[in-house]
Amino acid sequence: MNIGIVGLGLIGGSLGLALRSHGHTVLGVSRQSHTCQRAIARGAVDDAGLSLNLMQSAEVVFLCTPLAAMQATVVELVPHLTADTVLTDVGSVKGWVVKTIAPLWSNFVGGHPMAGTAESGIEAALPDLFSNAPYVLTPTETTPAGAVQLVEALVRPLQTRIYRCRPDDHDRAVAWISHLPVMTSASLIAACIGEADPAVLELACGLASSGFRDTSRVGGGNPELGLMMAQYNQVALIRSLHAYRDTLNQMIAHIEQSDWRSLEALLKQTQQARPEFLQ
Ligand code: NAP
Repeated sequence: MNIGIVGLGLIGGSLGLALRSHGHTVLGVSRQSHTCQRAIARGAVDDAGLSLNLMQSAEVVFLCTPLAAMQATVVELVPHLTADTVLTDVGSVKGWVVKTIAPLWSNFVGGHPMAGTAESGIEAALPDLFSNAPYVLTPTETTPAGAVQLVEALVRPLQTRIYRCRPDDHDRAVAWISHLPVMTSASLIAACIGEADPAVLELACGLASSGFRDTSRVGGGNPELGLMMAQYNQVALIRSLHAYRDTLNQMIAHIEQSDWRSLEALLKQTQQARPEFLQ
């Protein structure tokens, strides 16, 4: 099948590598010609260029730009598509994307491959990035069934685990397991560096080990990603943050009141629940 990819970075490049290894012809469009050349050299695309005109022979187009570029890209892309071209995206937030893109191209299905690394750009692309990773599709009542089936048929052979859900349910779920952890982990680091005694802070830095490494990892990452989560998934993230604050207040109350029995019950509950999230 002829497949188009717009945005040849970590996700777009990885999709190209994976889809080509399954026999598809992949055409890429990116913003910089150097990126296009590297994508060709790395075998992520059969051909690539700066003009969206390259997408006219694509049967399916994967939109792999940053979220902020998606709307303008689709407006520019639409005149180059044939009527039955299926358009899908890989954005990490689905409510905003589906609301914005579906009115521009009806043969559109929202998607989110839930895989990544700390790196970005074409050099970071990996052929097996999606292997064993969830791939969420978010059709609505108006999404053509054929578009969903086609995208699913393309990404399932990449060893992905397909989930289908509503865009808003996707955003609520990722708020819990991805966006809230970034904010709480960042808050942890921010609270620590607020220690008033420089000697204690220096001691804490020296003593920090695996526990701090685990709990601070996602909060110490690329600020652009955290900002994107807050901007594009604001409602769900706020809901999760409020629930988190309520739980934290409950925990503070147990400790202030030396209510060890309640604290123990809460910690036993979380110990039991954690494996459910990490199957
Ligand atoms: P990335 O590595 O920075 O790649 C994005 C690429 O898009 C850049 O290399 C850039 O290419 C290109 N680009 C930027 N603006 C463009 C435009 N207007 N037109 C065409 N190309 C443009 O980012 P990424 O991690 O692959 O993320 C891409 C999408 O995947 C985002 O929507 C993100 O939400 C989603 N996603 C990311 C992850 C993750 O963990 N990183 C996971 C799942 C989904 P040039 O080099 O040519 O400028």
